[in-house]
Amino acid sequence: MDTSEEKFYKLFDLPYAYDALVPYISEKQLNLHHQKHHQGYVTGVNTAFEKMDKARSENIDLDMKLTLKDLSFNLGGYLLHSLFWNNLIPAENRNDKPNGELLNIINDEFGSLERFQKEFTATALSVEGSGWAVLAYCKCTKRPLLMQIEKHNTNIYPAFKILLVLDMWEHSYYLDYQNNRSKYIEAFWKIVNWEKAGERLGRLTL
Ligand code: MN
Repeated sequence: MDTSEEKFYKLFDLPYAYDALVPYISEKQLNLHHQKHHQGYVTGVNTAFEKMDKARSENIDLDMKLTLKDLSFNLGGYLLHSLFWNNLIPAENRNDKPNGELLNIINDEFGSLERFQKEFTATALSVEGSGWAVLAYCKCTKRPLLMQIEKHNTNIYPAFKILLVLDMWEHSYYLDYQNNRSKYIEAFWKIVNWEKAGERLGRLTL
């Protein structure tokens, strides 16, 4: 079995300090979210691969339904969090609105930035239980669209490119906002990294 590190996932450092998003996200909340929760998915996805590696090297059957569900949950959790950290930026460094092509597609689809933010906020607010609000983009129709991801691993339109995500799991906001999801989403708009979302639109792959 090849156990070289490159075959496994790693928890990367955040692109800013743990206290850089204060007062919108506290140092304690961000530290916990990254070090404990995101780390949990890194460990989970690597464990799933180790189990598959072992079964394959010993020629033991895998329960594919269970294996792939576990893999999808943990890999989804790992990837969505990696996107999420890059969707945030310290308030003092951010552009207060999107520009270029991202602004164009938002205006074309939603009519205005305000209307997009209203719909995205409602998308996030109405996530049932644990999940994500997502702005994605269809390369065929060249239209952006909103979606909700339940937990980390369902309701994804294959091959749609994700531009922007908002973590609506309680673990992402509960220390700071308790059950006040609206206040958390309001804070998100103060630290959203429009530039990164625009860059993702310009790139060909995830
Ligand atoms: Mn999370």
